[in-house]
Amino acid sequence: MTVIHTLGLPRMGAGRELKWALEDYWQGRRGADELLAVARELRARHWAMQAQAGCALVTVGDFSLYDHVLDMSARLGVVPERFGWSGGEVDLDTYFRMARGRAPSGTPAFACEMTKWFDTNYHYLVPELAPGQRFELARHDLFAQVDEAHALGYAVKVAMVGPLTWLWLAKAQGDFDRLDLLDASLPVYGRILERLAGQGVAWVQLDEPILALDLPAAWRAAFEPAYHVLRNSGARILLASYFGALGDNLMNAARLPVAGLHVDAIGAPEELPQVADWLPAGRVLSVGCVDGRNVWRADLDAALDRLAPIHARLGERLWLAPSCSLLHVPLDVTLEDGLDPEIKPWLAFTRQKLDELAVLARGLTQGRDAVADELAQCRAALAARRASPRVTDPAVRARLAAIRPEDAVRAAPYARRALVQRQRLGLPPFPTTTIGSFPQTADIRAARRAFKVGHIDRAEYEATMRAEIRHAVDIQERLGLDVLVHGEAERNDMVEHFGEQMQGYAFTAHGWVQSYGSRCVKPPILYGDVARPAPMTVAWITYAQSLTQKPMKGMLTGPITLLKWSFVRDDQPWRDTALQIALALRDEIRDLEAAGIGVIQVDEPAFREAMPLRARQRTGYLAWAVQAFRLATGGVADATQIHTHMCYSEFNDIIAAIAELDADVITIETARSNMELLEVFAGFDYPNEIGPGVYDIHSPNVPAVDAMVRLLQKAAARIPAERLWVNPDCGLKTRAWTETEAALANMVEAARRLRATIGA
Ligand code: GLN
Ligand code: ZN
Repeated sequence: MTVIHTLGLPRMGAGRELKWALEDYWQGRRGADELLAVARELRARHWAMQAQAGCALVTVGDFSLYDHVLDMSARLGVVPERFGWSGGEVDLDTYFRMARGRAPSGTPAFACEMTKWFDTNYHYLVPELAPGQRFELARHDLFAQVDEAHALGYAVKVAMVGPLTWLWLAKAQGDFDRLDLLDASLPVYGRILERLAGQGVAWVQLDEPILALDLPAAWRAAFEPAYHVLRNSGARILLASYFGALGDNLMNAARLPVAGLHVDAIGAPEELPQVADWLPAGRVLSVGCVDGRNVWRADLDAALDRLAPIHARLGERLWLAPSCSLLHVPLDVTLEDGLDPEIKPWLAFTRQKLDELAVLARGLTQGRDAVADELAQCRAALAARRASPRVTDPAVRARLAAIRPEDAVRAAPYARRALVQRQRLGLPPFPTTTIGSFPQTADIRAARRAFKVGHIDRAEYEATMRAEIRHAVDIQERLGLDVLVHGEAERNDMVEHFGEQMQGYAFTAHGWVQSYGSRCVKPPILYGDVARPAPMTVAWITYAQSLTQKPMKGMLTGPITLLKWSFVRDDQPWRDTALQIALALRDEIRDLEAAGIGVIQVDEPAFREAMPLRARQRTGYLAWAVQAFRLATGGVADATQIHTHMCYSEFNDIIAAIAELDADVITIETARSNMELLEVFAGFDYPNEIGPGVYDIHSPNVPAVDAMVRLLQKAAARIPAERLWVNPDCGLKTRAWTETEAALANMVEAARRLRATIGA
């Protein structure tokens, strides 16, 4: 029988049990024992799900209390000095302090930097390497989890981040090449593998997704000797590559001294025969043949066609799996009672993907007749999706075809617009603003729930949200901020809120996907042509503007983010979907402008994340991504100030494209990486205005005035003072009001000091 397995499962649980347990623990409402019991129960449930679906091996080690990269760092004893760790076991609270800056015990410190996991919306904690970094096996929870699974009677495959990928994702704190630390880290990897082999673990999956990247030659060459060392551990290693083609890494990867290789046949189906050709005799080939990144039901006929010749050659050495960890998709589509019954059969979440693998495995080993019913069902669902009038809207298509190049160009260049805007807005130097959201309090969430289940009506719900907006405006007035925001109380999520008001999007009730730590998002499903039947934000923003003389920022989510943070349709190019969304936003922006709103922000936090991993595909992406943003924003008058916001990414390599967006102002994350972003401005003259985030909103710590003044002075050395804004590095919805007010009071004070010193 063909082996099926997963590279990893979602961690949160059907009811997001892990989220609640974590947050209770952090707030002191539950003890460590209670948190760990929830974690154990979730693992057991997820193993049972795999076993029930027919997985011959259950995966251990994909579960994490916060992040699997942080798990690996802790396991390797790579704990930055500021956390006061002095060897021995990295305990739970040290682990959480690395993730969040604080924990129930221990002294608060700067959290580790967080950034996106390849081109996904999952965030990992960046390992920090000190010069002469030492490694020691310092966290042992993985071995206990293996015992748990064995005790439940499962055959185990352990998954963890491989040594080259872990090192690639790390940052050297100092002037040295992090690859030089590979040799020092391998003995600890070796000890982990030996110990797992000693526990009777059948396989160890080492994730090396960097094999889907353009690797420098030294990194590519480092794989072979490293895996030779690891081979001596006695563990059977499955090397897992995903997130796209192996490309120029293919030959190297196929010939590594490991027992098996996993490849992504969804991202790179064309490569599969070549991989099979290159694979030495006796090796297992795990083929990622259902999409681990998206929610569409697989085309099982096509998959069988592709797999059959490989199966004929490899027999039992062919394994089947999702293309990557299922971390990136929701758990179970059968939970979705409210989902449109026409759309539901087009979808497959984690549980359904495991079932798809089981069907494919049976089809391969017992022949297609053995799975004729399943194949017929699949064909019918795919045909219904293709033919559905809900997917294709001729009016949207016609409008897209009629776009002219000048639609994406502002009438005057930035320098001229800036003068008009300065006159209209009357802002001081170093204007202060925030990124959009204010605390989503328990009251706000309770009101939303009450409205959803019908305990309060729309009028009452909207009145409650207006009261929240008034509260947010009052506080901003009191704090002395210059450009105000309405606070986004009425938004459950920056994508869902818009998707719900646009044609072409469907929504789940339980389709949560982890974003970072305990934070989950519920991405909408973009299944059809997009249009905006009616204004989406105008009533809220004009209400907020009516409460103040100061400029109120209109707040929208941009086309790339609305696309990337959704499950995107796979039946047309991303570009077409992005431009459809851009046209809808263009109408919204025009309506806001007509309603007297003078500042409009179009958030694009996913702009960098949507960029292809391989360099040769990037120019094409950036061209249509810039076009989409400019199509959305290009129709406004000179006096209307367009802002954009981006966060938690490496921006240095795309700064020219960011400049091409031609937003009047960009607010951008820098605080957590200590303004490293600013180094790019030494080599690139960013032409418009910019607000480098002066404090990290992901930490509850209140930033000191001095620290922010210093950051801003550093910025002023690179960017002319008259083009600098002062703002936090992201939205404040995850924070509490007390810390938010304290932080913003300090931020406003920092701006005042700066006006006094630099102005003088
Ligand atoms: N306007 C959004 C907010 O403030 C932006 C969020 C984001 O960048 N992810 O929450
Ligand atoms: Zn942000």
